[in-house]
Amino acid sequence: MGKDIFCRIIEGKAPGRIVYQDDEVVAFWDIHPKAPIHILIVPRKHITSVCELTEQDALILGKMALVADKIARQEGIFNTGFRLVLNCGPDSGMIVPHLHMHLLGGRRLGGIC
Ligand code: AMP
Repeated sequence: MGKDIFCRIIEGKAPGRIVYQDDEVVAFWDIHPKAPIHILIVPRKHITSVCELTEQDALILGKMALVADKIARQEGIFNTGFRLVLNCGPDSGMIVPHLHMHLLGGRRLGGIC
């Protein structure tokens, strides 16, 4: 099976507006933003979704949340607030099969349902 689009962005083989990267995590702007700030935080390691997370990989979620905080500060939305979203499975509408955290902010967000 071919690599997903996020693997290709991480490897520099597809374009991405990268705002942060380290040994474990890469973050880039969502191509179809749903809010003034909409950034995706993605582990370099290919994990399909939070539904496939193992005990061994569990720490990566905390790392992703810390990176989201850092980016929220960088983008000036830490004090006004933001939303972190993880999708999993068909009912969530997940379309990219690579674990990612959405960081959304920059406007008053509506209810989640
Ligand atoms: P999800 O529904 O959680 O799978 O969300 C995947 C997100 O990835 C969507 O918000 C898409 O707009 C975004 N997306 C898809 N392809 C790209 C891409 N090439 N670069 C940046 N964001 C993308």
